[in-house]
Amino acid sequence: MPFEKNRFTKTEFIDGEDEEDDYYAKFKFSTSSYVSSSSAPSQKTKTDNSTATKTVRQQTSHGQSALDSAIICALKSHPKTFRFTQKKLTEVSNTIQHLSICQIRELDLYGNYLTELPNEIQLLQSIESCNLDQANYRLVMNLVHNLTLILGNNKFEQFPFVISSLTKLSKLLLYRNNLKDLSPKACVYLTNLRILNLNYNFITQLPIEIGYLKQLEIFSIEHNQLQELPREIGSCTKLLELYLGYNQLKKLPLEIGYLTELQRLILHRNRLLELPESITNIKHSLKHLDVAANELRIFPSKFHSLNLNEFHYENNPLLVRAPIHSVQEQEILNLKELCARQTMRELRYTSSTVPANETYARQQKLRDEIQQSKRAKEILMQCTECQFCHNYFLNTWLECVEYLDVRKTFKNIHNSTTTANIVPQRVLLCSYECFNSPGHEYFGVAFP
Ligand SMILES: [Zn+2]
Repeated sequence: MPFEKNRFTKTEFIDGEDEEDDYYAKFKFSTSSYVSSSSAPSQKTKTDNSTATKTVRQQTSHGQSALDSAIICALKSHPKTFRFTQKKLTEVSNTIQHLSICQIRELDLYGNYLTELPNEIQLLQSIESCNLDQANYRLVMNLVHNLTLILGNNKFEQFPFVISSLTKLSKLLLYRNNLKDLSPKACVYLTNLRILNLNYNFITQLPIEIGYLKQLEIFSIEHNQLQELPREIGSCTKLLELYLGYNQLKKLPLEIGYLTELQRLILHRNRLLELPESITNIKHSLKHLDVAANELRIFPSKFHSLNLNEFHYENNPLLVRAPIHSVQEQEILNLKELCARQTMRELRYTSSTVPANETYARQQKLRDEIQQSKRAKEILMQCTECQFCHNYFLNTWLECVEYLDVRKTFKNIHNSTTTANIVPQRVLLCSYECFNSPGHEYFGVAFP
């Protein structure tokens, strides 16, 4: 699980300098005693209901006053990280604004009962109130640029919109809440986010505004109910790691191919029927691909051009290799298909009998004509190369399969799989003529 650890930390102040201080020592005692009471709830539930309610209330108000005490402490020690985790806190009071004086880099409220945040949270990036010289100002700006907010394991049902005003926020962890969506407006404002973790929520779709998160490097939204990924994800071109496991995805947008920095793509336990052909655009960066437990039958053509170090594909209904002999009759192509094929052939054709300069002149004339016709250009752009004869086809092709030995194809692979190391890869041929020719290891696909 990426960057998601169970935290059992008590309130702690990194960089705290007043450890000998009487007040701090007393506070430490009261916090730890509070934690121990909250970590043994089973004893409380055995008492009658009214006592239990009272206990929760006491703990909550205790949580609130403990938070206030912690804030007072922080004001003395000026920590860079403020943690107040697993304290059954149901709300954050506006006293949180005083932390702005500390210019904290990280606010960690993991494992409470929070459902909303006070407006004052937006003051955490306010530095106007501080009396700073130029050098300090630059330092603080750097800190503010790296602001981290940890709200994992709370009770948020709606995206805490007030966070949107923390426009310098770079790391936001909201895993294990009850979120049903990601606020589109938040995406528009949080353009400096580099890390976003929304694991273990109930999100069914992402807004198209996700494309505003152009600085995003790590995005994790595992264990949700995502049914599709918006094509705008292709605008997040700085993504290095994308975790989409345990969702309901049936397909991925073609635009995934724009993520040319992506090193890690985790898709296990979805319902993917196929991967987009464009995935091979990220062959230079992609090292780790996990598509285990989906509904894949075949991998895209040129899948072998990826440079994977780690590849998980078990538990997919992959096409099995059980060849039977078959010769197919030549098909009849329509006029549009024939014209497209002929044009592409003429554009690339070189003859041993016709002088090269004549061929070049004719091809140049043809190119000029195509340039002038927008429609012709669009059609010819859709042509694909036959993997056997290397001529181009438009809309009529034969889908075949070849089998890749995973270990031979991805030489640097280091994960050990117990299943077979052979996977099917799509091959597109222009005709049965190519299919029936000897000299290849491509198989047709027989449907039962
Ligand atoms: Zn062909």
